[in-house]
Order: sequence, then structure tokens, then C-alpha cells
Amino acid sequence: RGEIRFENVRFGYDADRPILNGIDLVVAPGSKLAIVGPSGAGKSTIARLLFRFYDVTGGRILVDGQDIAKARQETLRAAIGIVPQDTVLFNDTIGYNIAYGREGASEAEIREAAKGAAIHSFIESLSEGYATRVGERGLKLSGGEKQRVAVARALLKDPPILILDEATSALDSRTEAEIQATLERAEQGRTTIVIAHRLSTIVDADEIVVLDHGRIAERGSHAALLEQG
Ligand code: ADP
Ligand code: ADP
Repeated sequence: RGEIRFENVRFGYDADRPILNGIDLVVAPGSKLAIVGPSGAGKSTIARLLFRFYDVTGGRILVDGQDIAKARQETLRAAIGIVPQDTVLFNDTIGYNIAYGREGASEAEIREAAKGAAIHSFIESLSEGYATRVGERGLKLSGGEKQRVAVARALLKDPPILILDEATSALDSRTEAEIQATLERAEQGRTTIVIAHRLSTIVDADEIVVLDHGRIAERGSHAALLEQG
């Protein structure tokens, strides 16, 4: 479970301005693909299409052989966890924030996800636990704690696919290293797509693609790409 295939995928937010110009990708179950490239290249757009925030304008995206345009949205989203760069939390409880988008998650699932994100103990130490309100009118969480809530949200329902969209790039280097370690554990046994802008952060990827102006400019292993410079 967790095979991803992009076949000649084309997309533009506006009809007259193409953003992705024919993307072909195959990510084998359990493997890790890294997408690098300059800002504006279309990296996050790839993640948004996979999660069906938008529909492709040409080509198709298959998950486990099924065209996602024909899948039930709920089924697709339960199979994919996304961690964005900046997580904005709702003025509600920590439990609500972890379960956001996954209505019907059980308390046991929420706790498991929080454990996977290494934030369960912190939450348990709060006097109101998972019922603690966060955000402007509640407990202020640090940037790292917010990202851990996002990781827990992504891990809910134990998805076979994980997308990390510059998940740690807004953090200070120490917090980044801590959350990176948590993410490395979370990646085990899942198909992972990591979006990054530096080659140095993705040494363990099975394949790296360099995206430029909505096209794949280079692809290969980390070593091969470093050699080319
Ligand atoms: P990257 O992640 O590589 O920085 P993005 O995928 O975020 O690039 O964006 C690719 C291009 O699409 C950029 O030119 C950006 O301005 C544009 N873009 C992103 N989101 C939207 C949107 N919601 N509406 C219109 N254009 C967008
Ligand atoms: P960005 O464009 O910065 O990546 P989004 O606004 O697309 O952020 O999503 C923010 C967060 O909300 C992400 O963690 C995403 O996984 C989550 N999210 C949004 N909608 C859903 C949904 N329907 N199901 C699960 N998670 C969702």
C-alpha cells in the first residue's frame, strides 16, 4: 500500500498560467521521494494535487493504481498525512486540533497519533490534558509544539502516505533537529514525499527530483546530484 504515480500531470491555478508542465513520478510503497527546487517551482502544488485540494488539468494521479479523481475524497485523505510548513491552530482544544479534518477519529487514535508525534507526554502533563484549549484565547504553544500537533494530525488514521512540505524549515535549528528525528521514525513503513529547498536535509531519500518552472529538471540519487553540483 502507498504507491504513488503521476502521469504527465499538468496544472494551472489560472487557465492562462501553467504551473506544472507534465510531471511524471513513481514513488514505490515505503520509499522516500524528495522534491527540491527554487521557490515558486511548483513543489507545494504537487502536494496539494495529491491531497486533492485542486484537480489536475491534464494527466492523472494514481494512488495504489486508482485514479484519485475517481476516489472518494474521504478515503483518499485518510490515506495521506500532510505536515505543512506553518501550522495555524484553531482556538479550540488540542484534541480537536489533532483530529481536525478526520472527523470520527477515536480517542485512542488521537493518543496514538500524539505518541507518534512525541507530544503525548506533554499533553498529559497539562491539567486538562487533550481538553486544553490552545491558540489566542488558550495555551500558547511554541513553534515546535505546533508542528508536533501538525505531525499528530498527519499520523492520525495511520496513513500509508506522508507528505512533509518544508515541515521544519520555519523552526530554529535545535527544534528542527528534534522534530526531524520524530519525523524519521514516522516515515518508517510509509511512502514519504519530502519537499525541501536544501539538498543537505534529504540525504536519506531514495530519489530526488529537482523541480524548476513546473518541470522535472533533474532526477537521481543524492550522491549523483551532489556530484553534478
Ligand atoms: P513552491 O512550493 O515550489 O515554492 P508553489 O507550488 O507554492 O511553489 O507555487 C508555484 C506557483 O504557483 C507560484 O508561482 C505561486 O505563486 C503560484 N501559486 C501558488 N498557489 C497559488 C494559488 N492559490 N493561486 C494562484 N497561484 C498560486
Ligand atoms: P498549506 O497550503 O500551507 O500546506 P493547508 O491550508 O492546505 O496548508 O492545510 C493546512 C493543514 O490542514 C494541513 O496540515 C492539512 O493536512 C490539514 N487539512 C486541511 N484540510 C484537511 C482535510 N480535509 N483533512 C485532513 N487534513 C486537512
